[in-house]
Amino acid sequence: MTAIRIDGKAFAAKLRERVGEAAMAFAQSAGRKPGLAVVLVGDDPASQVYVGSKGKATVAANMESFTHRLGAETSQADLLALVDQLNRDDAVDGILVQLPLPDHLDEQSIIASISPDKDVDGFHVINAGRLSVGQSGFVPCTPLGCMMLLTDRLGDLSGLEAVVIGRSNIVGKPMAQLLLDANATVTIAHSRTKDLAGVVKRADIVVAAVGRPEMIGRDWLKNGATVIDVGINRLPPEPGKEKGKLVGDVAFDEASEVAGAITPVPGGVGPMTIAVLLRNTVVAAHRNAGLDAPAGL
Ligand code: NDP
Repeated sequence: MTAIRIDGKAFAAKLRERVGEAAMAFAQSAGRKPGLAVVLVGDDPASQVYVGSKGKATVAANMESFTHRLGAETSQADLLALVDQLNRDDAVDGILVQLPLPDHLDEQSIIASISPDKDVDGFHVINAGRLSVGQSGFVPCTPLGCMMLLTDRLGDLSGLEAVVIGRSNIVGKPMAQLLLDANATVTIAHSRTKDLAGVVKRADIVVAAVGRPEMIGRDWLKNGATVIDVGINRLPPEPGKEKGKLVGDVAFDEASEVAGAITPVPGGVGPMTIAVLLRNTVVAAHRNAGLDAPAGL
């Protein structure tokens, strides 16, 4: 069997198009564009790139982008004051503080200071709680993007065996919750799981969110399984090359011989994350303006 390659890039492009249309319709009824504020503290090169591309994608989706770049030495009080100002700014529907923050800042209390109704990353404990009890809120972008790819591929997930490898607050746990809400039978595996390969072998759906290059091989997978690879890992560079290759947590080529469908890295889950961030922002704009959430997002 050769697995179907799940094209996250193409799916994300279509989602961004729908978000752009919803943003335009919002601007017509509300008299302003949806707005996303992104806060970057310090000069971490990877974060600089992410923030730059989020800004461009926001503008391309017919939304206002407000980028706040603060020095690495910014104090907790100054960052809290900026978040407070953004919470009160009616032009801002979504607030994202780019993580990781420099060590002297307390991430948890910064996230806690964001209004839950503008928390488009879905990291606030209120939104984690809403997801857990089945109320509408904001769901972290990466797992929501994975869920969109899964339901697009499989339709109804009822009764399917799903194994999520990884239990972080931003990927593994919300992913498991979403699968449970979709009536899958869910196992969460982690670094202490015994016989991980045996656990994964049961799964109709495997979501790998570990951060270990090509850990999951052919023999771990059930025939026909749908595999969502969240991992982004850079291999050491080959001789003469400056950068190593990007790979997922799944050994793509060999897994493709067994799986029914699989996301590649890059071009699978990665592009979904930013598209869902834009989706969450346009949804926030509608909620904040007291309008019905746009259909089809
Ligand atoms: P974390 O490091 O927070 O969590 C990793 C999880 O993997 C932990 O729960 C850990 O278990 C588990 N784990 C580690 N080693 C093993 C092992 N040998 N066997 C089984 N489980 C193991 O990572 P994140 O959740 O933030 O991210 C996971 C991966 O996804 C990373 O590669 C990251 O770069 C990528 N990522 C990709 C995104 C995208 O847009 N595509 C967005 C976010 C993340 P334990 O809890 O026991 O320590």
